Amino acid sequence: MTKSQIEKFKEALLAKLAELSQSSDRRDEIQIERAPDSLDDLQNMLQRDLAVAQLNRDARLIREIQRALARIEDGSYGVCLHCEEEISPRRLHAVPWAALCIKCQERADASQQETETVPGDEPFFESQAYFADAA
Ligand SMILES: [Zn+2]
Repeated sequence: MTKSQIEKFKEALLAKLAELSQSSDRRDEIQIERAPDSLDDLQNMLQRDLAVAQLNRDARLIREIQRALARIEDGSYGVCLHCEEEISPRRLHAVPWAALCIKCQERADASQQETETVPGDEPFFESQAYFADAA
């Protein structure tokens, strides 16, 4: 990968990081006041759960982006952390913070879904479709 390609990915990562940091600044707004009515309580709780789930997703993504930026600094960006093959530029365009090549990612996804997956039935098509859409 050339230096200017890496610069582009770095810009994309920093832009995404800025976007996510802005949304976590809104964290304070999530403090929902307790209403005396129990239905409202439930509603508030559900809303808060949704907001918290979103924040957790954002926080995880922020960490992944920070790790990707660190890999740019130490020169290991674009190399799969698991098998040390180069991650395809197409994948990096879709997911600039990707730490694994598509094959290792599929394996990781598969082991996460182990309980739902029939042996031998790899969740291959789903990932392919995802990258086809993103490209
Ligand atoms: Zn790999």
